[in-house]
Amino acid sequence: MPKGEASATALGRDPDVLAAFSEDAAHFPGGHAQAVASPATEADLAHILRSSSSVLAVGAQSSLTGGATPMGDVVITTSRMNRILEIGRDRVRVQSGVSLTDLDAALREKGLYYPPTPTFMGACVGGVVATNAAGAATFKYGTTRAWVEALTVVLASGDVLDLERGAVRAHAEGYFEVREVRGVRGVHGVRVMLPRYAMPHVPKLSAGYFAAPGMDLVDLFVGSEGTLGVITEATLRVVPQRPAQCLAFVPFDRRDAAIGFVRTLRRAAMETWRARDPLGLDVSAIEHLDARCLALLREDGADRQFGVALPDAAIALLVTLELPPDTTSAQAFDEIGRFSVVDTPLARFCRALEAEGVLDRVEIAVPGDDARAAQLLGLREAVPAAVNAPVGRAQRTVDARIGKTAADMVVPFDCLGELFAVYDREFARRRLDAAVWGHISDGNLHPNVIPTSMADVESGEDAIRVFGHDVIRMGGSPLAEHGVGRHPIKQELLRALYGSAGVEAMRAVKRALDPDFTLAPGVIFER
Ligand SMILES: Cc1cc2nc3c(=O)[nH]c(=O)nc-3n(C[C@H](O)[C@H](O)[C@H](O)COP(=O)(O)OP(=O)(O)OC[C@H]3O[C@@H](n4cnc5c(N)ncnc54)[C@H](O)[C@@H]3O)c2cc1C
Repeated sequence: MPKGEASATALGRDPDVLAAFSEDAAHFPGGHAQAVASPATEADLAHILRSSSSVLAVGAQSSLTGGATPMGDVVITTSRMNRILEIGRDRVRVQSGVSLTDLDAALREKGLYYPPTPTFMGACVGGVVATNAAGAATFKYGTTRAWVEALTVVLASGDVLDLERGAVRAHAEGYFEVREVRGVRGVHGVRVMLPRYAMPHVPKLSAGYFAAPGMDLVDLFVGSEGTLGVITEATLRVVPQRPAQCLAFVPFDRRDAAIGFVRTLRRAAMETWRARDPLGLDVSAIEHLDARCLALLREDGADRQFGVALPDAAIALLVTLELPPDTTSAQAFDEIGRFSVVDTPLARFCRALEAEGVLDRVEIAVPGDDARAAQLLGLREAVPAAVNAPVGRAQRTVDARIGKTAADMVVPFDCLGELFAVYDREFARRRLDAAVWGHISDGNLHPNVIPTSMADVESGEDAIRVFGHDVIRMGGSPLAEHGVGRHPIKQELLRALYGSAGVEAMRAVKRALDPDFTLAPGVIFER
């Protein structure tokens, strides 16, 4: 996302630069920046924070919640904080403006791997930490939170906090004493009372502030969406040996059969990890596209673009199977050819596909076949654009107020069938056209309305409210990986999840660290 030149400490006010920073990927309406600055050092950043009344830190502005859309704020872009500082055997220290693409390239050279990335690899480290981003591989690797070992954060006062996981934990009475401050004034000895709500037990959660008894101070900042401090540096754990990956695009004629297959693969993978079985199936991610997604991809010509035949199916899965790092493509082809007589993870996978009656329809990218892997991943990544295209057309030709009407909800995996049924019921009841895709191995599904009128948008928003309440009833979260941002329905669903008292407790945390609401005012909750 090229944004043009912004100034280091001086506040840039060139209208073209301001316009370039006025919205994020949510296309939240009304965005406008007061000024833009691009600090290269913590001192520059502290200077801007001390002299501004309202500041929004942004990375790549790929937020899907409006959280990276300024509303008259000074935008601080981390684009000049883009250095990889240190790569060790199992961790990497980076500045917050480093993109995941650049991080991945640097790690790849050393055979290392950072797994919990969102689907959009242009996102920056500061953004993924601030939103506790998650992605396809959450099933095996968890969310960003689990990989953050240390953070440097500049507070609204300009003071700098150096936080290391394990160093500062919440007191038994439920508060932090923030002392470890590097700086000249501000929050020394500030007491931060923690919210007492119980968070849902789901594999991914980006729903306001993390709060748990005895929690680590690092975890307060992970997922805080730029409202508590600006992250300038992060130390992330990495996997010391990059696994070989095999991708399989698997169409199913029945959704319940696909869900059953996902359940089988999940169980097999969990058993493999438990028993450390070298021959067991090791699945890190399963994505899904519904029939409407497949139809939209066909309309867009994505089958020709990516060279993948798009089947007439109820649902398609994209499975990522991890194999030993030294697996070659010749070896993989050999195992696939003789799958009924050899016992290897890949052969077991083929037998599982055969048992489902889908082996003949599978498109596979074996380890080393980077071109085919890029095609299968490209097809999956083309889905949001294929869905957004008709929304954009309706906005241009029917009503300028029409916009993305979508949600990001997660339920415990056992409730997945029920969640699909709720989506079907509410969309059908309202006669809404919709596409659903997502990270099915985590029970995280993105329902997207394809509106043709403003009435469809309003009706879709009502459906999303209903989904949210049903998801909470199932023990899930209506806010899974994208965060809350400025979106009024997401903020409403946050109140539904934790109650008004829960959101008020978050405000109290904010007031303790940022009494004047300088940082990202209006993000997560109203001022
Ligand atoms: C095509 C597409 C696919 C996506 N897929 C996924 C997915 O699979 N999983 C997922 O979780 N998300 C996904 N997203 C959403 C988005 O990519 C993530 O939320 C990502 O973490 C945002 O990173 P960013 O650098 O763009 O941050 P921005 O969008 O710039 O900012 C996001 C939030 O973080 C705050 N922030 C940014 N940098 C800092 C900083 N240095 N310090 C403090 N706060 C900061 C901002 O104020 C804002 O509130 C997707 C988005 C797109 C467009």
